[in-house]
Amino acid sequence: MSVVTRFPPSPTGYLHVGSARTALFNWLYARHFNGKFILRIEDTDQARSSQDAVDVILAGMEWLGLDYDEGPYFQTQRFERYAEVVEQLIREGKAYHCYCSKERLENLRAEQMGNKQKPRYDGHCRDRVVAAPAGVSPVVRFRTPLDGAISVDDKVHGTITTRNQELDDLVIARSDGSPTYQLTVVVDDVDMGITHVIRGDDHINNTPRQLHILEALGAPRPIYAHVPMINGTDGKKLSKRHGAVSVLEFRDEGFLPDALLNYLARLGWAHGDQEIFSREELTEAFGLDALNKSAATFDTDKLLWLNQQYIQHAPASQLVGFAAPYFSSANIDLDDGPAIGAAVEAQRTRAKTLVELADQSRMFYGETILDLDAAKKYLRPVVGPALMAIRDKFAMVEDWSGGSLQEIVEQIAAEYDFKMGKVAQPLRVAITGSAASPSIDVTLELVGKMRTLTRLDAALSFISEREVS
Ligand code: GLU
Repeated sequence: MSVVTRFPPSPTGYLHVGSARTALFNWLYARHFNGKFILRIEDTDQARSSQDAVDVILAGMEWLGLDYDEGPYFQTQRFERYAEVVEQLIREGKAYHCYCSKERLENLRAEQMGNKQKPRYDGHCRDRVVAAPAGVSPVVRFRTPLDGAISVDDKVHGTITTRNQELDDLVIARSDGSPTYQLTVVVDDVDMGITHVIRGDDHINNTPRQLHILEALGAPRPIYAHVPMINGTDGKKLSKRHGAVSVLEFRDEGFLPDALLNYLARLGWAHGDQEIFSREELTEAFGLDALNKSAATFDTDKLLWLNQQYIQHAPASQLVGFAAPYFSSANIDLDDGPAIGAAVEAQRTRAKTLVELADQSRMFYGETILDLDAAKKYLRPVVGPALMAIRDKFAMVEDWSGGSLQEIVEQIAAEYDFKMGKVAQPLRVAITGSAASPSIDVTLELVGKMRTLTRLDAALSFISEREVS
């Protein structure tokens, strides 16, 4: 039997990390077995679904590189099929029309709550003997067995048994004829030949209901694996309070898709102590047996660490491709400075995100604004003459390359009886505007001759203004 998995998001919001992880697990499982991964948009709740949310889901999947073999299917395009199944179930006596008014159901609920009972439908229309009331559009309820129990062998949680008494006759079609989630999910899983349902354990309670419907349809059961939720480091369910939770926000904050993917894979799944996995390694190693039972913790610091590892080790050309959009959103004019590849190379070991990488590269391009604190600290009159001497030597350099520039700095430092750092740091502040940059040779080379001279002049006037004041 070949493996078929699915990712069935409801397009009611952004693609958050929990859903993305579910998508990833399903994708990995299908890829591991050379099976099929299906994308299905569960948009039957038309009031809460939107095209924007669909677009965001598709964009998130694409950014993460989670390609699908079939879909996206849209449940709203399958209403005929669901209606057919509802009819079939009614015909076979496995579902029935329910004419109970909203009022009756509300009273029932209030009464049950008052008696400290779990609210559930009481089966009033289940064995209706009197004629249906005229002018009422009924809902359709599934006839859940009254006695006995149903068990599922969940790959994460083991055997889960539910007494049928605890389940009521759920609505499978609303009074306007539209199908409910519990029905559509089962019909689709059957029609699409889903063999493995890997989803969040917030769906665990739905499983026994869905199993009954599956049985009523005489369809084979898929294998279920309910993965635990993701919490923030405070132990609470991950939410907006914890910062970025939408996948595309991570993109905007400068995370590499592979780093986020790697991080998501490790939320609730482990393979020994290994932390860093290529996509191929993940595909190779992934299995349901190593899924954790307890909730995973989303730790932004760990994700940042992983992102930094990916930035450091990504192939140069790939990293440039990823970094380029961040340079343009930072309004860095790439025509007014070194080739982007050189800037990326110089900063890749110093940045945790691509936003930081672009921001830290700004010093190589266009104008630079002096950081006043750094200027006050480092651009002191005492280094003025040495900086001036460096400026004059630099002005004569024809072959502007890091090594020889560094030699000039060393030589002038010696001449003025300064330790190298005492000159290099003010020089760094002068030409980059800040006290942090790559090594001085690399920095000088990338800032380029013209820019270095202009910036040194500005620093020298800062120093001389200081002298007079
Ligand atoms: N559409 C459901 C959701 O977004 C998923 C249902 C399922 O995985 O069975 O939570």
